[in-house]
Amino acid sequence: MSLPESCPPEFPSPATAFATLALHAGRIPDPATGALLPPLHLTTTYAQSAVGEHRGFTYSRSDNPTVAALEARLAALEGGRFCAAFSTGLAATTALFLSLLRPGDRAVCGEAVYGGTVRLLRELLVPFGIVADFVAADDDAALEAALAAPAALLFVETPANPTLALTDLARCARLAKQAGAHLAVDNTLLTPVLQRPLALGADVVLHSTTKWIEGHGATIGGALVTDDAALHEKFRWTRNATGSIQHPFTAWQTLQGVKTLPARIARHCDNAERIAEFLAAHPKVTRLCFPGRRGDPRAALAARQQARSGALLSFEVAGGLPAALRVMNGLRLFSRAENLGSAESLVTHPVTMTHGAVPPAQRERAGISDGLIRLSVGLEEPADLLADLDQALALA
Ligand code: PLP
Repeated sequence: MSLPESCPPEFPSPATAFATLALHAGRIPDPATGALLPPLHLTTTYAQSAVGEHRGFTYSRSDNPTVAALEARLAALEGGRFCAAFSTGLAATTALFLSLLRPGDRAVCGEAVYGGTVRLLRELLVPFGIVADFVAADDDAALEAALAAPAALLFVETPANPTLALTDLARCARLAKQAGAHLAVDNTLLTPVLQRPLALGADVVLHSTTKWIEGHGATIGGALVTDDAALHEKFRWTRNATGSIQHPFTAWQTLQGVKTLPARIARHCDNAERIAEFLAAHPKVTRLCFPGRRGDPRAALAARQQARSGALLSFEVAGGLPAALRVMNGLRLFSRAENLGSAESLVTHPVTMTHGAVPPAQRERAGISDGLIRLSVGLEEPADLLADLDQALALA
C-alpha cells in the first residue's frame, strides 16, 4: 500500500533521513487511544457504514491496517511509493513471477540466486509454459547475450550467496529495458540500508523480511516494493487471488525490527569487516569472499552500488571438505544453521547444507568449493567472535 491517507502529507519529505524513516514512516498514533506503536489488528472483517462505504479495508486477505503500516515503512526505506507484504519471501517471489509472466514469456534469471527461486521457476513455472534462461549475471558478456533476445523479466540477486559475486545493477537496468523486460532485484542480503536498487533503475525490489529486515530470527515474511502503480496493482491482485498476504502479527513484529535496522546493520557491518581482516591474514585461509575489501577485483563495483559489504562473508580453508567440517564443528559461538540474517552469528557449509542440491559442475562454476564456509556475522562482541574463529581454525 502507499502511505495511509491519515499520515501527514508532508511526511516523509524527500529530505527525511533514512534512520528517521526506519522509525517513523507509516507511523500514525492510534486515533482511538494515542498508542504510539501501531495496533495489532487481528480481524478478518471491517464493518461498512453503508453498502460499499468503508475506510479502505474490507477483508484481511486483501488488506490489513497493521500490514499496511509495515508496507508504508518498507516502501519509504526502498525509495518506492508502493509495497505489498507477503507471508514469506518465496510467496513474494511467486507473486512477482505470476504477475509478470504468462505462458510463452521468457524470464532471464541470475544463476546464483536463492535456490528456492530457481526451484520455483524451473520445477513449477516452466511446466506451465514459462521459458526460463539462467545466466551468470556477474559475467557482462553472458548477460548481454541473454538479453539480446526479448524477455519479460530479468531477475537478479546481488551480492550472490554464498560467494558474494556482484551484478552491476545499473547495467542490468539498461539491458533489461532494451529487451523489454522488467528488472526485479532480490535485495535481501544488503537491505535498503546498504543498497537501493530502485535508484539504480530496477522496477521491483524483493525482500525476504525473514532475514535482516525483521532481524531477530522470529518471523517468516516477504515484500515487493515498486514505484510503478500498475505493477503494484498487479502484485496486490495476485496476492489476493492466491491468498498470500502477510499475517498481521508478523507485520507488527517486523515493524519493531525495522526500527533498529540502520543501527543493527552498522554493527553487523563493523563486525563483518573485523572478521574479514582477521581471515585475510590467517595462514589457514586460502580464499576470502568479501567484495568491498581494498584489492578485491569487485571493489569498484561494490563502491558504486552498495554502501558497505554487508554481514555475509565466506572463506575457504586449506584441506578441502575434511578441514572445513572440522572448522564448522569446532565453532562454539557461531551456530551451525541453514539460514542467514539473524542477530546471532550463524555458520553454514554450503556444499553439504544450503547448496547440496546444486549439481557439482554448476557449484564448481559458481566457485562453491568443498572447503567453502559461509558466515552470517551477528551482533556479538567482535573479540568473542574472533576468539571462536581462532580456536576453530586451529582444528583445520
Ligand atoms: N531470497 C533470499 C536471498 C533468501 O536467502 C531467501 C531464503 O533464504 C528467500 C529469498 C526466500 O525467503 P523466505 O525463506 O522468507 O521464503
